[in-house]
Amino acid sequence: MFKRLFNELTLIFDLEPHEAPLLIKSGRESGADPTLLDMNFVRTAHPRTGEPAVFLPGSSLKGALRSCCEKIARTVKPGEDSHWCCNPFQKDSFCGKRFDEDERPSADRYWGSCIACRTFGHTHMGSHVALSDAYPLAEPRLEQRDGVAIDRISGAVAAGPFNLEVVTRGTFRVTLSLRNFQLWQVGLLTVALRELGQGRVPIGFGKSKGFGRMALTYRELEVAYPGRFSAHFDGHDLNAELLDLFAFNFPGRADYGLVPAEPNALPLPAVGCQVVDDGTFGRVASRWTDRTAIEETLNSTVGHWRACVSLSPWPPAREASHV
Ligand SMILES: [Zn+2]
Repeated sequence: MFKRLFNELTLIFDLEPHEAPLLIKSGRESGADPTLLDMNFVRTAHPRTGEPAVFLPGSSLKGALRSCCEKIARTVKPGEDSHWCCNPFQKDSFCGKRFDEDERPSADRYWGSCIACRTFGHTHMGSHVALSDAYPLAEPRLEQRDGVAIDRISGAVAAGPFNLEVVTRGTFRVTLSLRNFQLWQVGLLTVALRELGQGRVPIGFGKSKGFGRMALTYRELEVAYPGRFSAHFDGHDLNAELLDLFAFNFPGRADYGLVPAEPNALPLPAVGCQVVDDGTFGRVASRWTDRTAIEETLNSTVGHWRACVSLSPWPPAREASHV
């Protein structure tokens, strides 16, 4: 699938616990080790210092973002079947399951996948989104909390007390990258990141206790077009426009059944634009660190997500050139 790279978007943002403790559980329980609590925050060697550090695993963040995107998709289009948005926990309706014994070419698999799988992938198709592990920028504040499990019938303590290790203050830096994307996908991720940053998508353990609500701050946006020796392409200025995959006319494109993008490019802010790559090395890239510029750019793609929602049926009809 997509043997070439057409467009690439990299978004760097900070996540902080917002008026709520955060616990991403480590698989290690205390067992016989008296120095460990009952539930510990996940740790790994910090890539810079080599010291053990708490962190937010990229896989946890990706999972939270995916389930948020799925919830948004089902909410804006209730009653739609699993072809619009499948449920990875329901084996029979999951796109990955549908393609289990299917030898169809990868373009067909992309075409037949739901909006979540087109973005986050499934067992037979790679993801277009990648999230890095997020490490704290400075030493986070760790605290200990106690919890009990309540018996639902008697209302008495059923288990516990057990102690939890939580982060109450800390800034974790995340890098999200999106490759070979359509603007509707940026729009959907923008909506999901807004939900996350307003605390409506808690992450980690104890969501019902109010744990895991986060605040989000955008730090950097980079838009890149690999394989380009010039910023001018097909009437577009690659340093000034965010191009949908639909703007690239590659062989077999019609087979993928892309969502028609109207328009197929959006203007990027001129203010604060730093040209990172001018094409000399076969790549054109621009970068913004101004928060307003980043938010404006991301918000401008939400209209493409709205247009995608109004498409019916899903998947979209393939382009006429496909026979
Ligand atoms: Zn799916």
